[in-house]
Amino acid sequence: MVKRKLSSDDAVTGLLETELPNPAKKLKSVPKGKGKAKSKVADPPQYAERAESLWKVGAHVSAAGGIENAVINAAAIGANSFALFVKSQRKWSSPALTDATISDFKARLAEYSYDPRHILPHGSYLINLGNPDPEKRQKSYVCFLDDLKRCEALGLLLYNFHPGSSVGKATTDESISSIADSINEAHKATETVVTVLENMAGAGNIIGGDFAHLAGIIRQVDDKTRVGVCLDTCHMFSAGYDLRTKEGWDGIVTDFDRQVGLSYLRGMHLNDSKTECNSKRDRHENIGMGHVGIGGFHHILNDVRFQDIPLILETPSFEKPEVWAKEIGVLNGLSGADASELRLWWRGEGGGQAG
Ligand SMILES: [Zn+2]
Ligand SMILES: [Zn+2]
Repeated sequence: MVKRKLSSDDAVTGLLETELPNPAKKLKSVPKGKGKAKSKVADPPQYAERAESLWKVGAHVSAAGGIENAVINAAAIGANSFALFVKSQRKWSSPALTDATISDFKARLAEYSYDPRHILPHGSYLINLGNPDPEKRQKSYVCFLDDLKRCEALGLLLYNFHPGSSVGKATTDESISSIADSINEAHKATETVVTVLENMAGAGNIIGGDFAHLAGIIRQVDDKTRVGVCLDTCHMFSAGYDLRTKEGWDGIVTDFDRQVGLSYLRGMHLNDSKTECNSKRDRHENIGMGHVGIGGFHHILNDVRFQDIPLILETPSFEKPEVWAKEIGVLNGLSGADASELRLWWRGEGGGQAG
């Protein structure tokens, strides 16, 4: 592959400054986004350019005011993939999706050319399928199943969730079996949606910090075509998987392939980490501004095994979606870029590093 020269335009200098360097100036309108579909909010007037890339970079966007708005929010930041919550992530139940919402959502996916394979809904934070208390697990299961049914109604193929926690009242193996049992039950109650387990930072009783946990769950799932994994870079780094060097990254992918299998990989969350490797803490940081550094993301954006799956930012946006537009631009700029130039290119301040 011919290495592309990095230009100063690609740098993230000032990403976190309160006064952003007016990224709106760089936003171009796209002809597709005429906003013909009915909207409860005004369409943003400008859209970031969408890069043509085999690596599908996007962000977890807001669905405030209606799920159909998430599509516009993704297009506005130049995302080639996106994540969203299919209901309030902090409530056990939410009003059912209306037929109008469902048809608007589907119409916008077509209008803005988003493939459901590149959309990775995120499950409610309340769900814990690893809880040994039968009543509490049942409550989680009802919420989980409701999420899955919403995904199917919206025509979505994937559903990402946190495996769960033993809450210190069961062994890791018992908790892993409970999670697999719930997945099996949910698969029978739904048709197509793929349940995608997220790796975790590995704190306390939380299941999923170790690839072996994910492998253990998948081993007990009956329908292997409907289970997958989403790898979160912040979580893996905090759990002790050091992706800063090329050798480190290749070792992680080899380990994942051996224990879980790369065929199960259905998406990634691209987050830098505010805390050090093996900290077991889950603190997301903007790309290149944390302890992972820009080099860790260079490996991913040049690894052909990570093409054609959603690569989702869950970084702080400070209520300014243009931060994500900038990060998406930076990440897309890494594909095909010469690794030896990264240190010079990277001019981020406040702890940014070119490791
Ligand atoms: Zn998550
Ligand atoms: Zn994540």
